[in-house]
Amino acid sequence: MFFKDVIGQQAVKDKLIRSVKEQRVSHTQLFLGSEGTGNLSLALAFAQYVNCEKRPDADSCGKCTSCIKAQKLIHPDVHFTFPTIKAKDRNALSSEYMKEWRAALLENPYLNYLDWVTRIAEENKQGNISADECREVFSKLSLKVFESEYKILILWMPERLGKEGNILLKLFEEPSEKTLILLVAENLNLLLPTIISRSQVLQIPRIDDNSLIDVLINRHDLSRQNAARIVRRADGNYHEALRLINQVEDNNQELFNQWMQVLYKNDISELVKWVEDIAQIGRENQKSFFRYGLEFLHECILMQQVGQQQSRLQEEEKRLATWLSQHMRIEDWQQMAESFDNSHYHIERNAHPKILYMNLSLRLMRMISRKKLSLSA
Ligand SMILES: [Zn+2]
Repeated sequence: MFFKDVIGQQAVKDKLIRSVKEQRVSHTQLFLGSEGTGNLSLALAFAQYVNCEKRPDADSCGKCTSCIKAQKLIHPDVHFTFPTIKAKDRNALSSEYMKEWRAALLENPYLNYLDWVTRIAEENKQGNISADECREVFSKLSLKVFESEYKILILWMPERLGKEGNILLKLFEEPSEKTLILLVAENLNLLLPTIISRSQVLQIPRIDDNSLIDVLINRHDLSRQNAARIVRRADGNYHEALRLINQVEDNNQELFNQWMQVLYKNDISELVKWVEDIAQIGRENQKSFFRYGLEFLHECILMQQVGQQQSRLQEEEKRLATWLSQHMRIEDWQQMAESFDNSHYHIERNAHPKILYMNLSLRLMRMISRKKLSLSA
């Protein structure tokens, strides 16, 4: 993997490249970033760069023997450890799952734990990094370097280590020379404190909006408008953006717009019609409607603080937000957001959609008409 294939994260890339050039690469590093930030991709790109035989300025060369093997994930000096499952025909060892691991990673280096485990397990099984795996890591890392300057271990999801992780502590503390251990984690709270204290932590932030928008346009052929809409919902998480791209186009924005207008007009017969319509769209879509509503309100509150220019809302949404903000204050937004949150909860637990939407709408109608009265007074 090249650095250029990792989305955004320029500051992290610069830092990693600088550490190689200035020859102060830490032996044990923790690539810490939430889902979809590219923590694993960065570790892969770093491993390729470190062992590249030419090592140009900003990225690995991609042409030397080391780069070619690294790209295919078959470099003899780059070892992987990840959660596995004990099966009838296989031990819980990463080496026994390499074929699936390579395929999964080449398909999507932004994969998450659930993608991986559902790929290797038939039932609802938990993947773990076993004590046997930890022992195997020990012996792998005591091997001589085959071809490259560095021997590298990429350990994905140390959250899944449990107490077995203590087997590795000595290795983290005193790795042999020219050995790099790259731990790739999402959640600091689930790591053994002894592991954290022995690693140099590299914080990986969410991906910036512009880089993510560019990728959705250039790699996924989305229009700028669609890309911006998805990026707002994905909030710096490429894994989530991929999920949203594959989701069927929704018309939440239009439904929401209609709803607000009906509420504002205080028109009961139009409301009945709107409720009939939304009751038809199915539970998952209804949940997605409330999620959209919550995001929209969140963005409305932000827009009041940062101004229209910097807002992530689309033009049409901005118009609605501006219009609503003439009639609502922050407390009203908050009250509304709370109702959406509750409604999402009840829909998930099989509430009757017609009754739920009707009650909620009538409550909001009363709230809006009280505002209208107080504003005109
Ligand atoms: Zn190279």
